[in-house]
Formats: sequence, C-alpha cells, structure tokens
Amino acid sequence: MQSQTSPLGEFDLIQRFFKTQSKAMLDKNPGSVILGIGDDCALLETDPAEEIAITSDMLVSGRHFFADANPEWLGWKALAVNLSDLAAMGAKPLGFTLALALPKADPVWLEAFSKGLFAIAHQYSCPLIGGDTTAGPLNICITAFGSVPREKAIRRSGALEGDDIWASGCLGDARLTLAALRHEIKLSKNDLEAIEARMHQPTPRVNLGIALRNIANAALDISDGLLGDLKHILKQSNQDAEIFLDQLPKSATLSNQSMDIQNQYAASGGDDYELCFTAPTSKRDEIAKISADLKLPLTQIGSIKRMQKSTPEIKLINSTGVALKQEQVNQLFQSFDHFA
Ligand code: ADP
Ligand code: MG
Repeated sequence: MQSQTSPLGEFDLIQRFFKTQSKAMLDKNPGSVILGIGDDCALLETDPAEEIAITSDMLVSGRHFFADANPEWLGWKALAVNLSDLAAMGAKPLGFTLALALPKADPVWLEAFSKGLFAIAHQYSCPLIGGDTTAGPLNICITAFGSVPREKAIRRSGALEGDDIWASGCLGDARLTLAALRHEIKLSKNDLEAIEARMHQPTPRVNLGIALRNIANAALDISDGLLGDLKHILKQSNQDAEIFLDQLPKSATLSNQSMDIQNQYAASGGDDYELCFTAPTSKRDEIAKISADLKLPLTQIGSIKRMQKSTPEIKLINSTGVALKQEQVNQLFQSFDHFA
C-alpha cells in the first residue's frame, strides 16, 4: 500500500530501520525463512511434522502505552507480548511481521524503536520478515509465527481434574510499577528500578513453553491478570480451581507492600507475561528439573477441581486455609477488561 510518511520516505524508512537489520539476521541464520522483506509476501518453509502457531497483538498509543513512552521499550514489548503467546502454546518462534502506523517519520524515535525490537528478535532468534508502514496515530501491530510438533501445542482446553496449577517467575511487579508511575503507591527509586523492566521489557517464557510440551495439560500467558486469565483455562476445560493466595510467587519488592496489595497485584495485576499452566501431580519432579535447568522459579499455586456449577469458579484460600466468599473475590480481584 502507498502512503505518506515524509520527510523520510516510506521505503527509505523500511530500508533503514527494518530491512537492513532483518537481512543481517537472516543472512546469518535463515531458519525457516525462504524470503524476507522486499516482495509482496514473505515465504516460510513448513515442516510436515510441525504445525504453525500464529498470533497477533496490537499496541495502541494512549491505550496500552503513553504517547511519549520510551520507543526502545516499546519495540521490545511489542514483540515480547507476541512471543509470550507463542510460548504459552509451546511454539518455537519462526519470524514476525510488523504493521506500523506512525504520526511522523521521526528518525530518532525509529532508531530507538528498532533497537529494542531487534534486541529481542535476536535474543529469541525471531526475524522480522515483512510488514506494512503507514502514516496515522501511533499503532504497532505484530503478527508472530511459530512452530510446534503436530498435536503437541499446549491448549487452554486440556486441564484435567487433579492437575496442579503452576505459575512461572513472580507475579504483580508490572502492576506495582504501574501503580508507582501513577503515584497510587510510593516506591523508593531503588525499588522502582528493581522491578520496572518487568512492565516495560517483559521476558517471554519461550524456553519454558517448549519444555512443557509433553508435560503441561493446559497453559496460557498471564497478560490480564492471573485469575482472569486462569478463568479462560477453566472455561475451555470445564473445570473449577483452588488457588492458595499465600503461595503466589512475589518479588522481594512486592513482598514489602501490604498483604492486600500483595494479593491483589499478584492475583489480578496484568502485564506480567508469566506462564500459568496445569500438569498432573506425577510431573512435579520433571517440572522441578525444568525450573532448575532454566533457572526460573516455577511455583505450584493451586489445583484443578471438578466443576460444581454450570460456570467455572475459582476458590481462593487465604493463609489460614479459609476460602474467601465469592463477593469478596469478585470485589478484590477484577482482572482488567478493555471494554469495562
Ligand atoms: P505492498 O505494497 O506490496 O504491501 P509495501 O510496499 O507496503 O508492499 O512494502 C514493501 C516491503 O516492505 C514488503 O515486503 C513489506 O512486507 C515490507 N514492509 C513494509 N513495512 C514494513 C515494516 N514496518 N517492517 C517490516 N517490513 C515492512
Ligand atoms: Mg504494504
């Protein structure tokens, strides 16, 4: 499509900030990419023993980030959230496309954006293979492609009664960072520095997802908050769940907050991009080994229970072993809904 992005022309812009780095990456390691940026379509080689996992995420200025957000972080995060979706299915990244609407072709902004974008692209060997560029309100849409052996993708619908529920890393730091930036909570400079990357530059758990292919029955990545996201697994698997609030993994920084804030942020804070997965109790040793190999904490936070009513429910157990009442749960732990 043709569009106006003067003074820097559309094709100069693509060449300078995207194509050159993409080509360098592909020259070194083409992976499954037969043809990258420059034609009407990119071409990926498919392996008949694999399925292709495809995911898109859009980041909209004013909705997902502030208009003056650090462009290097934005470049990182735009790809990170997509890689996190691939991770949640157990897929290995193959490549991604980038559809970009820009208010103006600002070389300083583009330089920083492409730096963040290619930093994570390199880290996860996921090359940029195409996209679209147009003038318009800042909007970053990435589509990522991954591969997973036939029938090995970890779906949301596979949770079984009796499964343990696990969470990777720690939860709630992205929410705590947001609270500090909004001045809802006062954090020391050191505390903020210790956790802010968790919001701005999340780590997609790609290797964990791949390691869980033959272990997890169900998985997803936590983008909107643990409880809200876990509900998706429960709905698709027709199960209930029990979650032990005091078992939720928290950083030292979050652990310094009041108990209510700790629980609320760990249980329903969005933007952490950790994986939540369920697995049979017989897999505990294997999961402990994965945790040690990846140097990534994996914490058992609850279990899958038989569904009692027509819709799935999550029972929250407090530190004294008592289940919170449903109204308390609803009130305390609303996960973020874009149209609420
Ligand atoms: P078309 O008009 O056929 O859609 P374009 O002229 O828009 O193609 O784009 C030319 C080439 O540059 C295509 O290969 C396209 O995938 C790529 N491209 C365009 N914008 C981007 C971008 N933001 N990032 C990466 N590749 C891009
Ligand atoms: Mg185009």
